[in-house]
Amino acid sequence: MTNTMSGRVDALRTAIDGQVLLPDDPDYDRAALIWNGAIDRSPAVVARCASAADVASALRWGQECGLEIAVRGGGHSVAGAAVIDGGLTIDLSPLTSVVVDPVARRARCGGGASLAQLDAACQEHGLAVPAGTVSHTGVAGLTLGGGFGWLSAMAGLSIDNLISAEIVLVDGRVVRASSHEYPDLFWALRGGGGNFGVVTEFEFQLHPVGPLVHLGMFFFELGRAEEAIRLGRKFFVDSPRTAGGAIACVNAPPAPFVPEEAHFAPGVALVVAGFGAADEHAAMIAPLREAGPLFELVTPMPYVALQQMLDDGAPWGVRAYEKGLYLEDLTDAAVDAIAASIRAKRSPMSQLLLFPLGGAYRDVPDEATAFGGSRSARYAAAIGGITLDPQMFDDERQWVRSTWAALRPFSAGRGSYVNMMAEFEDDQVRAAYGSKYERLALIKTVYDPRNVLRSNANIKPA
Ligand code: FAD
Repeated sequence: MTNTMSGRVDALRTAIDGQVLLPDDPDYDRAALIWNGAIDRSPAVVARCASAADVASALRWGQECGLEIAVRGGGHSVAGAAVIDGGLTIDLSPLTSVVVDPVARRARCGGGASLAQLDAACQEHGLAVPAGTVSHTGVAGLTLGGGFGWLSAMAGLSIDNLISAEIVLVDGRVVRASSHEYPDLFWALRGGGGNFGVVTEFEFQLHPVGPLVHLGMFFFELGRAEEAIRLGRKFFVDSPRTAGGAIACVNAPPAPFVPEEAHFAPGVALVVAGFGAADEHAAMIAPLREAGPLFELVTPMPYVALQQMLDDGAPWGVRAYEKGLYLEDLTDAAVDAIAASIRAKRSPMSQLLLFPLGGAYRDVPDEATAFGGSRSARYAAAIGGITLDPQMFDDERQWVRSTWAALRPFSAGRGSYVNMMAEFEDDQVRAAYGSKYERLALIKTVYDPRNVLRSNANIKPA
């Protein structure tokens, strides 16, 4: 490092309360680590920000030094958006505080918190925010792109429950955006990703959930894939808002409830998360039991355990590639294409997840937020090529691409979910936002005219 650069780093160290880490610092490797082990990048500097004022100083400093700037919430962007070779990472991991107001049913959550931290604090009061299905994911990136999971049918996306956000703009101003303060910015934040500033605090509306909820998981062998997907299709069309779930084309885990001969077997799991009464859940899942799955798991469980149930299937450091799309519906032809694709996958960790999009998700008008997905789509498909074996990674990536191409004819107009892009191709980002892109570009011009924040599903200033 040159003397000039080292002098500048000293200036940043003086300016912020959080740690400033360089590649030879002992904590650097951990700070520069992201979830996707397929991405190996080394930022020149990681600024661990402990406050909005720290973020403002780091943003100013990075621009003065002419460094490319990335923002890290939970580090789960499959594209590795939180790290740039030779750039500055503004790392929000110290900002994990979650403060719950159980009377108003609201939570204020730091911009570096994980879903696990948010869930744990809210569940102390029997409350929850709809969010994702793997608890080590970051609240920030997930929310800014949309955020769906088990509670989407009951309470919508994470952004549908966002009341306000504290955000540091690239010029260093700290503002709060809500429906009545900076409403254009607030609209853009709800789906437009990290394009408009660095969010240091999210304020969410909460819903009574649990603490005990009901799981029903029914696993069908690969030979019955078409039948199982059609069964799931019928189930989720009829299911009430209190049921979330997924049609999960996965391999059976080596878990105690799985017969040993079925460990790692490929197939289709119909997963139902019931947030209503126990007897309602039992009646609802009866047709799935009667279909005679290879094995099942039907049990009450704490909501936080449901939120962690899939954590081990997607551990830190795996090599991953992902693409997503929305399906207008699961036609028979789409079911056949999905079944053919899952027969072609090799890694037991690779998966094709179909999240039904009903209930509260569809209540929100399309134009009410900047969310890239269509509110009339019936399913979000997440195609993940995941492996621990470096030799298999190219094949899994190819599997994702060919599966995505095979499902494109059934997709609901718009392209992918921006949070499921392993590559931010410009045409795909534009396609994801459709006619909203122009409005987002105008808002980007107001808040980040020089496109300082571009390590993301980038919206270019108009
Ligand atoms: P990061 O890599 O830290 O950030 C992602 C993007 O957001 C980057 O562009 C970053 O610059 C920006 N960003 C992060 N923090 C801030 C901030 N505070 N202010 C401004 N910009 C910021 N999505 C779902 O909707 N539902 C799911 O169930 C789901 N499950 C997932 C499971 C796994 C294992 C993984 C890897 C991803 C999953 N996702 C899911 C996708 C997830 O929403 C995205 O990967 C999301 O980007 C993760 O956010 P993060 O903060 O962890 O990531």
